[in-house]
Amino acid sequence: MIQKIRKVAVIGTGMLGTQIAIQAACYGYDVKAYDEVPESFQKTLQKIHGVMKMLGRSPTLPMEQWEQGVQKVKLAKDLSEALKEADLVIEAVLENLDLKRKVFARIDSLAPQGAILATNSSSIPISKIENATQRPEKCLNIHFYMPATGMNIVDIMGGTKTTAETITAAQQWIRSIGCIPLTVKKEILGFCFNSVWRAIKRQTLFMWAGGYVDFRDIDRAWMVFTGMPQGPFGLMDTVGLDVVYDIEMVYYNESKDPKDKPPDALMEKIKKGELGVKSGKGFYTYPNPEFLQPDFLNPKK
Ligand code: NAD
Repeated sequence: MIQKIRKVAVIGTGMLGTQIAIQAACYGYDVKAYDEVPESFQKTLQKIHGVMKMLGRSPTLPMEQWEQGVQKVKLAKDLSEALKEADLVIEAVLENLDLKRKVFARIDSLAPQGAILATNSSSIPISKIENATQRPEKCLNIHFYMPATGMNIVDIMGGTKTTAETITAAQQWIRSIGCIPLTVKKEILGFCFNSVWRAIKRQTLFMWAGGYVDFRDIDRAWMVFTGMPQGPFGLMDTVGLDVVYDIEMVYYNESKDPKDKPPDALMEKIKKGELGVKSGKGFYTYPNPEFLQPDFLNPKK
């Protein structure tokens, strides 16, 4: 029998956890969210509004319904309150393996025995976390892609012991919150779409850092080709250049292939505080980046 999910706990209410909690609440789930920094949810909400204003929202979820979802998320004062009745737990703390293993061990000790435990990690497969718990068969990756930018695709990937029932329950839950599950059949770093996105990042960063092409031309080509509102460099700015660097380092540390190492020029930008949207400058300057100007796709010079 496939497990019924009614109550959801989200641990970590930064950029992703906040959006996941709201998405689930919008679709009628009883959502409790916890962050070790109590004001995190409200602070992140302001940032999400900024991103939505800049890029325009997906019509998949009307704004009014989304705002109602915001009101429905219950903020828990501690981890045990967030977890005590959860059927599904989604961990969305910082991208650090040791931290995630510690958080998973705590979640395992506090959540009901039958609860499914998922990580929203961008790059760490659940196989590296599952043995921090006593229930590896109920652990998996459920990886969201910045829902505020209208991307309602979600990767699902099991570990070494995840049961088919756990995967099916996750797929059904993802569909029930208006998202599209992308199921990874065999473990791969980067899951389904991030593996594709990784290839794009590696090549476009190489072309920029090597001085082959102006990054704006790469973005123009991408925007015309795909019809997206921003290109790879605009998207990297939205994700955060420090986050992009850390993720690229995970790939590099895994492969040790020099071609996977993020360029030094990217680290130089980070050292200068050019982190993208969140710091006001990355490849572009915010809040009015060049790629949103009317003549960006057809520049006069
Ligand atoms: P973030 O820095 O915005 O948020 C992380 C939050 O975790 C912070 O609010 C922090 O206070 C909280 N936290 C840290 N330790 C904690 C603990 N022990 N208990 C409770 N809360 C704790 O990060 P983010 O961008 O939301 O990323 C979170 C996860 O989602 C990462 O694993 C990341 O790889 C993944 N992810 C990020 C993106 C993205 O575009 N930023 C996209 C997909 C997935």
